[in-house]
Amino acid sequence: MVAVEMKDISKSYDRQKSVIDQISLSIEEGEFFVLVGPSGSGKSTLLRMIAGLEEISGGVLKMNNQVVNHLPPKDRNLSMVFQNYALYPHLTVEQNILFGLRAKKVDKMEQQKRLQETAEMMGLSDLLKRKPKQLSGGQRQRVALARSVVSEAPICLMDEPLSNLDAKLRAHMRIEIRRLQKKLGLTMIYVTHDQVEAMTMGDRIMVLNDGKIQQVGEPITLYNQPANLFVASFIGSPKINLSEAKLIDHKLVLESGLQITMDKEDILSLLSYPNLTMGIRAEHILPGTTEQTSHTLEVVNVEQLGNETLLTFEVGKELWTAKWLGQWRIQAGDYVPVQLSSKNICFFDSESGALIRPAVAMKEQEVVGL
Ligand code: ADP
Ligand code: MG
Repeated sequence: MVAVEMKDISKSYDRQKSVIDQISLSIEEGEFFVLVGPSGSGKSTLLRMIAGLEEISGGVLKMNNQVVNHLPPKDRNLSMVFQNYALYPHLTVEQNILFGLRAKKVDKMEQQKRLQETAEMMGLSDLLKRKPKQLSGGQRQRVALARSVVSEAPICLMDEPLSNLDAKLRAHMRIEIRRLQKKLGLTMIYVTHDQVEAMTMGDRIMVLNDGKIQQVGEPITLYNQPANLFVASFIGSPKINLSEAKLIDHKLVLESGLQITMDKEDILSLLSYPNLTMGIRAEHILPGTTEQTSHTLEVVNVEQLGNETLLTFEVGKELWTAKWLGQWRIQAGDYVPVQLSSKNICFFDSESGALIRPAVAMKEQEVVGL
């Protein structure tokens, strides 16, 4: 069942520039849906329109098949967690969690029942009498989540709820939120500017830029088949390596002068594009072997991560990063053999930025099953 449906939703604050531009989208019941994009791309605006906190300038918003454009927030049957999850400092954890239920005059017995269940689930049972200032950042965040969970609203909206936490706690809370959402069967609409968060949490992701949808899909699809250059560069770390390129005599010639041999069939699909941009992911710049080496590149930086090694190469004006499994004894200034294969390259139209052909290896790659 569709939980939230948007049809040509737009928003303009000044009646001139669209901050949200004709967004059409369906979010399924029980889905963890992530809205990701750079700062200022319109994520909070869209979320606030779904919540009913921001007027919708154009289009239709439906929840459970009802048009809700003009329904006040309290009647939309949803809960919300913000980045600044302001807890009331003078209230205890218990009072903070129950605040919404008290305002709604929910039966006292019911309040206690939900409080105990939620506190248990969130590991807050021993902290109920404390004040927010007696809690760690992670505990406060959990209280904010509990406050939203206790409402038992079927749709939950979160706007960058983890961005105030340190990296370790953030990684932990990502898993907790995801578990909670599954356990309660919530429909989650989760806003973040962090592509790692989007990739690791979302059933599906929508990438937003400048108020426009760039792509909607499963995380792996966005990674393997990015619809355009924006999505290609936004999703994935280290960033995809890009270069302008042209086809000359059955070879791909990059801006730097570097040449890559192409298969015949490949060339056909690319011939009608005078200006190409090629992209290759860090894990696809493979170490060269005695039998297979296509190029020798100069290393300008080496990062030893323990389980893998990041190598930065200078390729013309561009810096390219390769990710090699294991530990490699290589230093800046070394020249190292690599394999660059056309089947690992994504091609984009430089004019429109649109994807022409994803990396063939990625398209054919089967996700390993048990
Ligand atoms: P994000 O959450 O992705 O960082 P926002 O939705 O907060 O982006 O903002 C999108 C754009 O809308 C920004 O350019 C911002 O300046 C503008 N904007 C947000 N709120 C208002 C407002 N109340 N009045 C005018 N412009 C606004
Ligand atoms: Mg925002």
